[in-house]
Amino acid sequence: MSDHEHYEAVVVGAGPGGAAAAAALARHGVETLVLERGVDAGSKNVSGGLIYAEESAPYTIDSLFPGFREEASERPVDDYQIHNVAGRSVKTFDLSDVHHHDTDWCDAVLRRRMDSWLAERVHELTRETGGGLLTEVRVNGLLRENGEIVGVTCDELDPITADLIVAADGVNSELARDAGLMNWDEPDDWFQGVKAVVEMEPETINERFGIDDGEGAAHLFSGDLFEGVRGGGFLYTNEASLSIGTVFHLDSLAAERAEPHELLDGLLTHPLLDQWLQGEYEEREYSAKLVPDSKKVAHPSPHRGRLLLVGDAAGQMQAQGPIIKGMNHAVTAGGLAAEAYADAKARGESAAAGDLYESKLREEGVMDQLRPRRYEATRALSEHDAVNRIGSAVVESAVGAVGLKALDGVVERAFNSPFLLGMVPDSRFSYVTVPTRIAEVLGDPIEAENDVEPPNLADRIGDLTYDVGEPHIELVDNTFAASGTAVTACPVSAEGFGGGCYREETVSTNGTERKLVSLDTQPCVECGTCAVVADTNWEHPSGGKGVEYEQG
Ligand SMILES: Cc1cc2nc3c(=O)[nH]c(=O)nc-3n(C[C@H](O)[C@H](O)[C@H](O)COP(=O)(O)OP(=O)(O)OC[C@H]3O[C@@H](n4cnc5c(N)ncnc54)[C@H](O)[C@@H]3O)c2cc1C
Ligand code: SF4
Repeated sequence: MSDHEHYEAVVVGAGPGGAAAAAALARHGVETLVLERGVDAGSKNVSGGLIYAEESAPYTIDSLFPGFREEASERPVDDYQIHNVAGRSVKTFDLSDVHHHDTDWCDAVLRRRMDSWLAERVHELTRETGGGLLTEVRVNGLLRENGEIVGVTCDELDPITADLIVAADGVNSELARDAGLMNWDEPDDWFQGVKAVVEMEPETINERFGIDDGEGAAHLFSGDLFEGVRGGGFLYTNEASLSIGTVFHLDSLAAERAEPHELLDGLLTHPLLDQWLQGEYEEREYSAKLVPDSKKVAHPSPHRGRLLLVGDAAGQMQAQGPIIKGMNHAVTAGGLAAEAYADAKARGESAAAGDLYESKLREEGVMDQLRPRRYEATRALSEHDAVNRIGSAVVESAVGAVGLKALDGVVERAFNSPFLLGMVPDSRFSYVTVPTRIAEVLGDPIEAENDVEPPNLADRIGDLTYDVGEPHIELVDNTFAASGTAVTACPVSAEGFGGGCYREETVSTNGTERKLVSLDTQPCVECGTCAVVADTNWEHPSGGKGVEYEQG
């Protein structure tokens, strides 16, 4: 073995997955070093974000971090509704049943506050066993000896060896990719989430949402308000702000050449939101991040040698209809990875930690939630174009309208069924056609006008904090055919906008005109989109460099 600095465990990333893994490892007495690339834990992270504590989960954030709810979260959320929208017509369903299903509690969170609070606890816990948490360190790859993974390499530190490496480095996990456990090839494996945090006084929130201090509300939006792109919107109440955002299937966003910031504005300016915004709009922060679709990419065997993947790095983000659960699964996976290592070590077989972790994910029912077998079994049919065309024709017909009216209560119950939601097909039919038709047939008109004016993209970028370092993304193929999708899909770029990351330009050579793409990484918010939709060499910036979110 080389003479590199050695820790028993190295955890890469201090989001919920990494924090949970590190806290559980430290409690098992394992010497654990945590490496986080942000200036502060949470400064790189974005979430909707409702964090759930599931009754059936073996680990929850408050079981690993006592005091979490009182000190690190925003408001408990009991009220959960979805608004089906067609123009000005809206039909609202109460989703309390699905929200409370298997739920001990659920809180809205902002990631800078949450993750930095967790990081303080993690630092205290890991210090007790000889480790600690270091920020502003970017791990840039796996260290191998004789072909075996033995540690990590970093931009800022010498290589470090470890008996256990937990990759909790999120959706664009460079370690999962290095190990050959994840690729960034297919847009339909991912969603793109975009969010605005909007200033609002606590008393105003209480009044406009009809809640008290210590209570919160969640509203989801689907239908025709997103230019036909598959996905939906959300609004969650924080202590003194609102989180309002959108989550779209990346393949749909790319195919429609839709602009993410415009889709977000479509939601922010919809008349339905007037009841809460009432003409006042002060945006604290604009942010974006990719989200893995666990149905397709949750790795069934998320380990290789000493390397265990947890959370988004393993594709463990559950989005099924209105269910968006990633942080809780990252916590569970982190706890199980630590437990697996401790069990394996107690048997004198540390090397078996990965296999044990895989079995625990299966036995605890986590894999079944992430990749429901009924989705696999039904998707060939339910996502088939012909089936969706027929379905759309029926739903959009007069007969379909009669059926929807007759089945009003049944439709609401269907939205509340975890079983049915586990096989919602990823199709325009389920994400756009059905909710739009529900609103058309069953909805009531909204009379209000919403005249808020969200900031333009230049102002949104201008309001973010950056510490710009070396360019961290290289455009490999700058032809429009290979990388042009990024001009629209990048949340800080837009067609005809000169201040973003990706720009389209027409170049004349010898009398022929060619459309090319150029890249400037300065305004990049590190969302990961162009790793998938453009031909790039994509890496995260070095430790402490790049965007710094204050809210997240
Ligand atoms: C708009 C949006 C809405 C969402 N809504 C919800 C929701 O309501 N509920 C929910 O549960 N989930 C939601 N999610 C998903 C949720 O945010 C993720 O599933 C969750 O954050 C995953 O946690 P994690 O610990 O695996 O990764 P992350 O939270 O992404 O943490 C990864 C950490 O690793 C660090 N890191 C990355 N690479 C390196 C490196 N090379 N070296 C060192 N450090 C590194 C990062 O800086 C980061 O701190 C949403 C996501 C988005 C984008
Ligand atoms: S340049 Fe790429 S990673 Fe950066 S914000 Fe745009 S799409 Fe996201």
